[in-house]
Amino acid sequence: MDNKFPNKISLNAKSVAIIGGGLAGVAAAWMLHCSGYKVVLIEKRPFLGGRAYSFTDSATGVEVDNGQHVFMRCFSEYISLVKQVGSFDKTKLQSSMNVEVRDSGGNIGVLSSSPLPSYLSFLPSFLFYRYLSISEKIKAILVLLKIKFIKNIQSEDLQNISFKDWLKNNNQSEKSIRNFWDLIILPTLNDHSSNVTTSMALMVFKTTLLGDRHASDIGFAQYGLSTVMGTPMKDKLVDCGVSLVLGKQVLGLKHSKGVIRELKLSDGQKIKADFYISAIPPFALMSLLPDSLKKTELGLAGTHDFSPIINAHIWYDKTVADFEWTAFINSPLQYVFNRSVISNLDQEGTYLTISISGASEFWSKTKEQLKELLVDELNKCLPLTASAKIKRFIIIKEQRATFRNLPGASINNRLKSATPLDNFYLAGDWTDTGWPSTMEGAVISGNLAAKAIIARDGSGN
Ligand SMILES: Cc1cc2nc3c(=O)[nH]c(=O)nc-3n(C[C@H](O)[C@H](O)[C@H](O)COP(=O)(O)OP(=O)(O)OC[C@H]3O[C@@H](n4cnc5c(N)ncnc54)[C@H](O)[C@@H]3O)c2cc1C
Repeated sequence: MDNKFPNKISLNAKSVAIIGGGLAGVAAAWMLHCSGYKVVLIEKRPFLGGRAYSFTDSATGVEVDNGQHVFMRCFSEYISLVKQVGSFDKTKLQSSMNVEVRDSGGNIGVLSSSPLPSYLSFLPSFLFYRYLSISEKIKAILVLLKIKFIKNIQSEDLQNISFKDWLKNNNQSEKSIRNFWDLIILPTLNDHSSNVTTSMALMVFKTTLLGDRHASDIGFAQYGLSTVMGTPMKDKLVDCGVSLVLGKQVLGLKHSKGVIRELKLSDGQKIKADFYISAIPPFALMSLLPDSLKKTELGLAGTHDFSPIINAHIWYDKTVADFEWTAFINSPLQYVFNRSVISNLDQEGTYLTISISGASEFWSKTKEQLKELLVDELNKCLPLTASAKIKRFIIIKEQRATFRNLPGASINNRLKSATPLDNFYLAGDWTDTGWPSTMEGAVISGNLAAKAIIARDGSGN
């Protein structure tokens, strides 16, 4: 995005209607507005932010996220958007990567970056990383070097083989996969290495640990996601004159002669524009498409699979931990965030969020079963919790949290922004960005759709 874009809309500005107010829709709206287009953004819920939102928990008065969201310094388009809406100061971003990894024995291993250049940067900490043997570390370093120099990560072979099998073929032990490789793959791809393509896993390693020295500095919202994203995004767009239609669902697309003619909204309203962007998840797009369009390549949107995330929110009456966040190995706790410390909450006790990625195996468990499992685990891993009282416990399950990157998928269902319809474009984390299902992927997709319209339309208005 570029601040030199004209900030005023000319009288003959072309119009764009965007369906979906997640990060993809917001990014597209912002870029098109900045390029002089008249933009209307339609979101079915009464707020922006899509899959990254928060609400105020009435029992505690605290803002609770639907799911802990983490970003890295390599999320450059996401960071740029958050900066442009003016809320980057409400995030925390490490000045250099540092991850504490705990186990139930009270041990802590650390992965951190050092002043060494680029991909060598995390090696010193890796040499002291306590959860792998010396020989496992040497083997892992050799594989990291191999990854660094693989040029074509999109080859058919790498698309077809699971990352776990690829790692095994490259001399990685089960322990090494569990204690190192999956520690990174599970939160970034929301699946275990056995369920992801090697191509996407290699993209993750090349972009983060093997990228620029600061690429994997870790960041997150300091306050609720809606305070940091949805609300300031809404304020910024409204201030700039973007029309927001919130709380109304797009129910249908009218099309003829290869172009979209209008959108039909849940309140009967019809919206006409010169261009249209769908920035909704693939299953939502499928329910919007008329049958004739489902027969085009757009129908591939219906072939995506999804992986769930479960977040548990626990309030203790005492201080039970002083870290901001930590990873756990060999535990369902996976990643634990201490929201009391992160948000500097002015409340007695500790509010912890446990984020469980690739959560299929826990999906059928009830709230009580999850509580028992997680509280037991916390008692083992963070012994201070055993003597503290639980004041409140919330479970939030997101079934279609992220799309999957399953190995061996025979079709490429990540569609490009341009569609068979002349004035209809696609955005959304699931489209063809090269990124996994992330906030960065979503913002990139919105920017790509906006740029495609600007390019199609000449130089913009
Ligand atoms: C629990 C959880 C944890 C996550 N953790 C991380 C993380 O740590 N890091 C990270 O980078 N990413 C994370 N993600 C993924 C990230 O949230 C998504 O990749 C990103 O928000 C997707 O944005 P989007 O705009 O593509 O789609 P969405 O956010 O799904 O936005 C689509 C919007 O369209 C609206 N909509 C749908 N149908 C219609 C219709 N017919 N009419 C009008 N509006 C409609 C929806 O209400 C929604 O607001 C997580 C996701 C979840 C659920």
